Amino acid sequence: MSSLDAFAAGKLAALDARHQRRTLVPTARLSGPWLEREGKRFISFSCNDYLNFSTDPRVKAAAIRAVEQHGTGAGGSRLITGNHPLIEELERRLASLKGTEAACVFGSGYLANVGIIPTLAGRDSLVLVDELAHNCINAGAQMAQGAVLRFAHNDLGDLERLLREHRGHHAHVLVVTDGVFSMDGDLAPLEAMGALCAEHDAWLMADDAHGIGVLGGGRGSAHVGAKMARVPLQMGTLSKAIGSYGAYLCASQPVIDLMKTRARTLVYSTGLPPAAIGAALEALNIIESEPDYCALPVEKARRFTRALNLAPAESPVVPVILGPETRALEAQRLLAEAGFLVAAIRPPTVPAGTSRLRFAFSAGHEDADIDRVAALLRERVL
Ligand code: PMP
Repeated sequence: MSSLDAFAAGKLAALDARHQRRTLVPTARLSGPWLEREGKRFISFSCNDYLNFSTDPRVKAAAIRAVEQHGTGAGGSRLITGNHPLIEELERRLASLKGTEAACVFGSGYLANVGIIPTLAGRDSLVLVDELAHNCINAGAQMAQGAVLRFAHNDLGDLERLLREHRGHHAHVLVVTDGVFSMDGDLAPLEAMGALCAEHDAWLMADDAHGIGVLGGGRGSAHVGAKMARVPLQMGTLSKAIGSYGAYLCASQPVIDLMKTRARTLVYSTGLPPAAIGAALEALNIIESEPDYCALPVEKARRFTRALNLAPAESPVVPVILGPETRALEAQRLLAEAGFLVAAIRPPTVPAGTSRLRFAFSAGHEDADIDRVAALLRERVL
C-alpha cells in the first residue's frame, strides 16, 4: 500500500472506531417530499427543499429556459466573463426581497461564508460566533486569521459580556449567527441582537440558510418581528427553500462592492451556472406572489410538534432528541421500515449525548403522513 493510501486507510479506521465514518447513498428525487433509495420509495423528512421548488414544473421550466438562452456554464469567474445578465437580475431581486441596497451572489452557502467573513475581518478583528453556528461560519472565522470567540447559544447576556470585555481591543468586531439553527430549528433573537451590536459598533451577520422563503412572509428570519431586525449582513443560500444552488449576501452598496472585488471565493471561482440562477429567479417570483404557500412548512412543523407535545416549531426544522447514537439509529431504521426517511444526526455534527432525529417539513407533506409518523414515534420510540 502506498503511504498515501495507508494514510487514508488509517484515518478511516480511526473514524470507524469512533463510529464517525459516513458513506453516501445514491438517492433519486421524485416529486414533493418523495425520494427513491435502493429501489424503495420513501416520504422524506430530511430534505431542505422546504417549498418543493426543485421539482416544481415552473422552476424546472425556468432553469431550462436559462440554459437555452445562456448555456450550461458561466465560463469564467464573474470578474472575467462569468457575470451573465441573470446573475445581476437575481442580485437586484434578492436585495429588494431583503430590503437592502444591494446583493452579491456566491457559488454556495459554504463558499459565501468562507468568502465573506475573511473579507470583513482580518488580523486586527474579533469574530464572535454563536457556539452552535454552522460549520462553514466557523471555517470562515478561522480563515479570517484574527481572534475568534464563541458566545453561549442565543445568549444575549453572554454576547454583551464579550462585547464589553473585548470591543475596545479590536479595530472591528463581527458577530455571526445562524438566523435559524440547522440542527435545532430555533431562531436567533435577531431584533435584540441587532440593537446590541449597533450599541457596541459591532457588525451583525445572520446566515439565513433555513429562513429565506419560509419565515417572515418568505423574506427570512430578520423579518419575523413587527419591524425588520437591524442585520446589516444578511447571508443565505439558494439551495434550500429556493430549490436551486448558490448563495447570497444582502447588504449595503459599499459592502457588496467590496465583496465583488475582494471575496476570494467569488473572485477565484466560476460564476454560477445559468440554470441555477434561472431556477432561483422563478422561485422568488412564486415566493413573492404566494405568501400563504411560504407559510406551509412551518404550519406542517407545528402540526408535528403539537402531536408530540413539543414546544411549537419556530421553523421547518424540528429535532427529536433521543440521546445515545444507538437510539437515534434504531429510530431511523424503524421509521424507514414504515416508509419515512428521517436523518439521524450524531456527533460530531451535534454534541455527544444529543443524537437526534432531525425532521425537516415541506409544503408538500400530507397532514395524514405527519400524523402517522408522529404516532409511530409516540408508540415505538419515545
Ligand atoms: N449555512 C447553514 C446554516 C447551513 O445549514 C448550510 C447547509 N447545510 C450552509 C450554510 C451551506 O449552504 P450550501 O449548502 O449552499 O453550501
